[in-house]
Amino acid sequence: MRIGIFSDVHANLEALVTVLELFRKEGVQWLLCCGDIVGYGPDPERCIELVRTSRAKVVAGNHDWAVAGRIGIGSFNPVAARAVSWTRDRLDEQLLGYLSNLPLTDDAGPFHFLHSAPSAPSEWEYIVTLEEAVAEMGSFITDICFIGHSHIPMAVERISGRQARIITENPFELRPDARYLINVGSVGQPRNGDPRACCLIIDWDERKAVFHRLKYDFTITQKKIAAAGLPAFLAERLATGT
Ligand code: ZN
Repeated sequence: MRIGIFSDVHANLEALVTVLELFRKEGVQWLLCCGDIVGYGPDPERCIELVRTSRAKVVAGNHDWAVAGRIGIGSFNPVAARAVSWTRDRLDEQLLGYLSNLPLTDDAGPFHFLHSAPSAPSEWEYIVTLEEAVAEMGSFITDICFIGHSHIPMAVERISGRQARIITENPFELRPDARYLINVGSVGQPRNGDPRACCLIIDWDERKAVFHRLKYDFTITQKKIAAAGLPAFLAERLATGT
């Protein structure tokens, strides 16, 4: 059984198509999405449709719920807020309803998944350090939890009786005697200095996980962002992964 986990598509169709194509080639049977299908990018309708037809299990990101009007945009910076209202104007009632109905958290077999922090999924806090990840380890019941939100991939492992650590190997083993909190990075707007789309594939029979980084033609996305009148910064950052 192979599971593909992805997050933070942010309406970047070119990156999403590239990741879904990898999942198809790798024979992925379960797809899990940790939220933020929309926001920032120029293709919200098509990205929602593609994620829906991929039969992924999806949880809500803060951008998804902000676009749907379920949360306010008080905590959003001006660029993000502008993209939220631009996105909302593009979506019909049915697509807005889809975003609004996404759950905050979900489970799939041995996995728990959500957008932000397991201890408080509706607070939209970022988990970026080892200490922050360790503090969250008691807030989910399964041995493995996937998150997104920071757009920075990170896997934290805690083997019972030992100090937790950030995993630096890739691929890496999912040990039966350990617990994991894994940020799967961002498909459509990576922020760790690598512009390639990010996702995770798990081979559950082998208990092996692999972070994949995939090149895609972000210049197409950049042109669409410019044509849509979205802030230029949203196009520029795709080239640098920041
Ligand atoms: Zn995001």
